[in-house]
Amino acid sequence: MAMTKHWCPNCNQGWVIPVRVKTTGEIIFVCEESEETWLKESEIGPAHWSEVPGAGHYCYLNDFMKSIGLGPTEYEKLEWLVV
Ligand SMILES: [Zn+2]
Repeated sequence: MAMTKHWCPNCNQGWVIPVRVKTTGEIIFVCEESEETWLKESEIGPAHWSEVPGAGHYCYLNDFMKSIGLGPTEYEKLEWLVV
């Protein structure tokens, strides 16, 4: 799968970067500026916010980390796939 970055459609101030969760291999998409998080590349777009990670909206990175059992500062478990 080609990894590309997208200009953030929400804050309009930074790039949405693919991020690999080291513990699961899952790829999520996180705005480097404001940490809006989408679960699928195809869903990156204007959408409403929810603290529960899921389809059709964005959450914040800390909400996602919490949902998979990571502490709020365990950034070393994430690998930013800078493109
Ligand atoms: Zn953003």
